[in-house]
Amino acid sequence: MALITRRRFARQTGFAAALYGSPLRAHGWLGLIDADKRNGARLDTEAIRKLASRIDGHVITPEASEYDAARSIFNRAFDRRPAVIVRCADPPDVARTLEFAQTKHLPLAVRAGGHSRLGFGMCDCGVVIDLSAMKRVEVDTGKRVARAEAGVLARDLDTATQRFGVATTSGGCPTVGIAGFTLGGGEGRLMDKYGLACDNLLSAQVVTVDGRQVEASPSSNPDLFWAIRGGGGNFGVVTALEYQLHPVNQVLSGALTYPAGRIPELLQAFVKFLAGASDEMDAFAQLLPSQQGRRLKIDVCYCGEPQIGNNLLGSLRGLKPQDDSVKIVSYLEAQAAGGFLAAPVAHFQTNLFLRELSEPAIHAITTAVNDAPATCKIILVPLRGAVSRVSPTDTAFALREPGYEIDIAGVWSAPAEKVEVVRWVQATRDNLQPFAHGVYINQLGDTSEQLVRSGYGPNYARLVEIKKKYDPNNVLRLNQNIKPVSPSNA
Ligand SMILES: Cc1cc2nc3c(=O)[nH]c(=O)nc-3n(C[C@H](O)[C@H](O)[C@H](O)COP(=O)(O)OP(=O)(O)OC[C@H]3O[C@@H](n4cnc5c(N)ncnc54)[C@H](O)[C@@H]3O)c2cc1C
Repeated sequence: MALITRRRFARQTGFAAALYGSPLRAHGWLGLIDADKRNGARLDTEAIRKLASRIDGHVITPEASEYDAARSIFNRAFDRRPAVIVRCADPPDVARTLEFAQTKHLPLAVRAGGHSRLGFGMCDCGVVIDLSAMKRVEVDTGKRVARAEAGVLARDLDTATQRFGVATTSGGCPTVGIAGFTLGGGEGRLMDKYGLACDNLLSAQVVTVDGRQVEASPSSNPDLFWAIRGGGGNFGVVTALEYQLHPVNQVLSGALTYPAGRIPELLQAFVKFLAGASDEMDAFAQLLPSQQGRRLKIDVCYCGEPQIGNNLLGSLRGLKPQDDSVKIVSYLEAQAAGGFLAAPVAHFQTNLFLRELSEPAIHAITTAVNDAPATCKIILVPLRGAVSRVSPTDTAFALREPGYEIDIAGVWSAPAEKVEVVRWVQATRDNLQPFAHGVYINQLGDTSEQLVRSGYGPNYARLVEIKKKYDPNNVLRLNQNIKPVSPSNA
């Protein structure tokens, strides 16, 4: 049995039994041996047969020709082999798969767009709830609302909404999944004007770990609604999300790139530029490698009147960029050009949040980039405008003070390069730590308890109480995990 739909199941059961040799180990995944890990632990035929007979979507097991494609995720640093991937078609599929994983005591991963920095969307030897086939988007132009299923990617949502000249804050990377993106916060080119993706979330459909299908909104399960706006995938499996839309047509977008050797001066100018820029202006800076040294590239996207945007850019243009690609483009073109990594690649990225780019912080950043391996970079994402007008406790997303998310990233194509990349990313993070006041969980490549707690900040204790209510056994733990244990007992 490789890939099975309910309709095909009856026809296939005759030969399916022959493909499954090894019965499920008596005590589930903990007892699996290494060979099982390599192959993706085999579940017994009967268990898979029963599961498949109840699923409207597809059940993909290690024998399937689709298996390798289905288990591949964006961060190639992770090569995980689940025992079964259930490509769900609808919320009942999600509920049945949740029940299956819990009955069999198997680890459970939830995959939407597959862009987790830590590869959380896939697991070894367990069950994957794969939402990637749930891709419907409906746009209500009258109410300016989009309803999207959880397998929708940023570009799918943008394409559907732009047909009507509207949009909501979606990922800077076209292939990021809206579900993981929104549940952790969701930073994109429209956030300065319209807030994070989670700030535009009107409601969500959630399957809880006990199989109930519930709505999370200001009026239905408001505690859950609060928690899923920044608390990640800790509380249930979200199957659909409803967003507020805003008029967005053409934008002024592109990049200004400066020659090497001027990082401190340019970062100070970047700070000044932002202080004078209205909410329509989104900008982030990247410190990139070049033969001559580190260059600074500032990406901008202005969603207001283009002439006003052009005037705002005067101060940055006065600093004599060597390259200036800023022009009027459609919002879809601006989005397609975005993204820090163009294609799936092995990488390590983490981040921290600085309230200001003080002189000592700029000095630490400059020293770090001058010492960086060629495949590493630092990205500075300002959080300001509409993002910082929401109180830190209004939603679970706590990074509401104006400041800068500093993403520190490196890629490798050969395992030998990995050690140096990871060492540099961690050392840079540690050197900037004295200036830091939190982290963004969606861009966190670490799993230390301290860093995860710092991501949830003042909301951690409340999130623990909600976790205890909705997932008391921590079934959903392959994420930036909130343990259902009171902080004082942890
Ligand atoms: C190249 C790249 C570019 C990125 N760009 C941005 C950016 O511009 N802005 C930004 O804010 N972030 C960005 N991110 C980070 C991104 O927001 C997070 O990695 C996010 O978790 C990815 O969501 P996903 O659905 O694609 O990933 P997945 O790996 O499918 O999911 C990640 C985790 O989210 C949870 N999850 C996902 N879907 C559900 C669901 N339906 N129900 C419950 N839990 C769920 C699960 O815990 C899952 O393990 C980027 C990441 C990459 C790799």
